Amino acid sequence: LKDRKTSFVIFLIDIYHFKYINEEYGREFGDKVLRFLAKTLDSVLINEDVFRVGFDEFAIVCTRNEPIKIVDGIKNVLSNVKIDEHKLKLDFNIAVIRYPEDESDIERLILKLERLLDISKSKGKNVIQYYSEEQYSTIKDLISIENKLEEAIRNNDFDIYLQPIVKISSNKIVGAEALIRWKDENGNFIPPSKFIPVAEQTGLIKEIDICMLLKAKETIEYIDNSLKKKVRISVNITPAYVNNIIEFFEKGYIPKCKIKTDFDFSKVKELITLELTERETVEVYESKELLQKIKNIGFKISIDDFGTGYSSLSYLINLDVDYLKIDMQFIRKITEDEKVYKLVKSIINIAKIFGIKTIAEGVETKQQLEILKKLGCNFYQGYLFSPPVSVDEFIRMLK
Ligand code: C2E
Ligand code: CA
Ligand code: CA
Repeated sequence: LKDRKTSFVIFLIDIYHFKYINEEYGREFGDKVLRFLAKTLDSVLINEDVFRVGFDEFAIVCTRNEPIKIVDGIKNVLSNVKIDEHKLKLDFNIAVIRYPEDESDIERLILKLERLLDISKSKGKNVIQYYSEEQYSTIKDLISIENKLEEAIRNNDFDIYLQPIVKISSNKIVGAEALIRWKDENGNFIPPSKFIPVAEQTGLIKEIDICMLLKAKETIEYIDNSLKKKVRISVNITPAYVNNIIEFFEKGYIPKCKIKTDFDFSKVKELITLELTERETVEVYESKELLQKIKNIGFKISIDDFGTGYSSLSYLINLDVDYLKIDMQFIRKITEDEKVYKLVKSIINIAKIFGIKTIAEGVETKQQLEILKKLGCNFYQGYLFSPPVSVDEFIRMLK
């Protein structure tokens, strides 16, 4: 690209959920699809350069045609994939950037293009993300958070905060949820909602999740040493990267965060629960094997934000789930909305039938707690009892 003197437009194409094709039809078929795409894109966009730049990513450098024609060409190819007797319509994410209008430095151009693809992916399938000035500031923010995150991982700058999980029948603390806390240069907390999505898009979440898992282990041991009390801690794990946790235990992956604790989980694993949100993706829940491996390690599994995403009763049957966390958006409406009340009641009853314990999130009022008690919900978390607190404060609460 650096040798090109003329202006051009790059299209970066990612095939949506390509993994499904491999899983459904086999790897060999997946390879055929990729070869088909390479060949067909090249022949349809005859005057442009087509590259395969990643596992399921293609780039088209367009110098001659109207960009809109390229888009039509790409869409056409993706929606008419014919291999053997199969016809497929592929979904996609596309990022588009112009040289030199959008960026005249080639390296930065590529960086921005990759971020644009992340933005496109975060919006769902079949989104074509063009570059525009107002997006520039978002991209700049993303790049700057990404750089800072990398540094924070290396320096172990994250703190673990704990929000008590309380047994409803006795109003006693039985454990806590670990929540990440990160301060900026001025000592102000950066909310997880600002950096967790960036970490997820860039894959840095892998390091963060392992780091929090190690901190949870360290904390359980610390509390046991100082109070002779065994508390259960749940750790949030991004479902798409559950595999990473398994690799950590099976292959002895060395994490990037410098944390003093050893990697011996043998004494604490029964006390750790992994919280997997069902908000994002359903893939992991379809893979029974993956979750079974987690259970084999010795961890418990909790489905976070239950009811907000792809709630599927089938995974309650198929998977060995230990806890369901009822999302706070329901708890918030439980006192005034009859339908929500009935929904929560049903969730609790279904969970009971399957021997799964329920945890209500975001309980803020006594009335909410009363209703949950009546419905037979097992545990609760929320500002009514306590917000997330530092480890030392949590220990004070336990005493
Ligand atoms: P989540 O797992 O659903 O966590 C619950 C969020 O609700 C936390 O926000 C908590 O502080 C907040 N909360 C607790 N009680 C109440 C309440 O009574 N009222 C209200 N309004 N809010 C309450 P936080 O700490 O900002 O975390 C936000 C999200 O970021 C979490 O949602 C989780 O998805 C993600 N997250 C946090 N820590 C980690 C982590 O270590 N790893 C990963 N992968 N994600 C994390
Ligand atoms: Ca959670
Ligand atoms: Ca939650």
